[in-house]
Amino acid sequence: MTTQTYAGSCHCGKVRFEADIDLDAGSGKCNCSICRKTRNWSAGIKPDAFRLLAGQDVLVDYQFNTSSVHWPFCGTCGVRPFGHGDIPEVGGAFYSVQLACLDDVSAQALADVSVGYSNGRDNDWRNEPSDAEKRWL
Ligand SMILES: [Zn+2]
Repeated sequence: MTTQTYAGSCHCGKVRFEADIDLDAGSGKCNCSICRKTRNWSAGIKPDAFRLLAGQDVLVDYQFNTSSVHWPFCGTCGVRPFGHGDIPEVGGAFYSVQLACLDDVSAQALADVSVGYSNGRDNDWRNEPSDAEKRWL
């Protein structure tokens, strides 16, 4: 277990954050309605491991369905660097950080992160989507 502090940001840089992430703990991709369309590739961390450093004023919140998760995006560039919510079934409050929005992680470190897949589209989170979907998620 090697938790490190990473710096992340949106595309225009108005939203900046720090996150303490153990990349050895793996990451997630999912075929649910929002993960598919935003090509979400993320690591889940506890709220106290996430620090928003700038951009609160430009973040636009987005919620859907049961509104259990917030999916804020930068109002200037549209990039969605993280989500957060509180779902007791998956361990309570969390932040979900887009690994592609980390600025100081090497290509090799990202390549080495294991990926777990969830079939969120069918509300079947503990199982994987089809092999075909896994190839393009
Ligand atoms: Zn931005």
